[in-house]
Amino acid sequence: MAEQKSNCSGNCSSCGQSCSSRNEPQSLLEPTAEFNNIKHVIGVVSGKGGVGKSMVTSSLAVLMNKMGYKVGILDADITGPSIPKSFGINSKVYQNELGILPAETENGIKIMSINLLLEDKEAPVLWRGPVIAGAVKQFWHDVVWGDLDYLFVDCPPGTGDVPLTVFQSLPLDGVVIVTSPQDLVSMIVKKAYNMANMMNIPVLGIIENMSSVICPECKKEFKIFGSGSETVADEIGVELLGKMPIDVTLAQLVDNGCFEKYDNIYLKDAAEKIDNKINK
Ligand code: ADP
Repeated sequence: MAEQKSNCSGNCSSCGQSCSSRNEPQSLLEPTAEFNNIKHVIGVVSGKGGVGKSMVTSSLAVLMNKMGYKVGILDADITGPSIPKSFGINSKVYQNELGILPAETENGIKIMSINLLLEDKEAPVLWRGPVIAGAVKQFWHDVVWGDLDYLFVDCPPGTGDVPLTVFQSLPLDGVVIVTSPQDLVSMIVKKAYNMANMMNIPVLGIIENMSSVICPECKKEFKIFGSGSETVADEIGVELLGKMPIDVTLAQLVDNGCFEKYDNIYLKDAAEKIDNKINK
């Protein structure tokens, strides 16, 4: 018979201890609407902000779209949404009897972001964690995504309330961790990795952004932050999927809302590796 602690109330949901009589935790996965057929959901995470998580999300979406897949982006970075602007989408989204209709890029990538609902795109979202988490869940089940091969979720940085909601509520096939090659960040990468592990979500690999900068004049490559991602990837036993330099052309295209015009040769292999891992 299973051993039971003397102070056991029988209510596992209010108890943090693990014991042999513990019941399986209840799944907190949220269903999406019945008319949505989303084959794969991939989270893009980072331990801290500003490392290029949204850029990687958008790049992977564009690359998968070029590979012929139907792709969507759920911008779960509610307090720092940057996806619509980088694709030049300024209009608001509408609702019909089925739900909220996502915006679409020129090449047909579907996008849902809080900025597509706000009147004033520069107004800060001053919401408490549970309200933000509720918005993310709504973007999952109240948006008319239709048929998608891949839905990329741009998670907010860190290991707080909202990333936790994404990990618990959405049926993630795996996560991609984005990092810059600084030592400090590598420690933070491990936090992101450990969080995914604790939630039993496969880590598909690491993408190192801002690996170097290429001088637009002399074309010489400078590794301003050193390189730590190989070591971290080795230490935690995940694949380093790709590296990307700071690219002035990309920064200009993003500023002008022309993300789809950027041919991201640096992350092409990474997109193919992810596709292979998911479809193997
Ligand atoms: P995060 O989502 O991690 O906060 P973003 O993807 O929004 O970071 O990137 C922060 C800023 O840096 C954005 O303006 C983005 O366009 C720019 N950026 C990110 N990666 C690169 C890169 N490799 N080359 C040039 N600019 C970049």
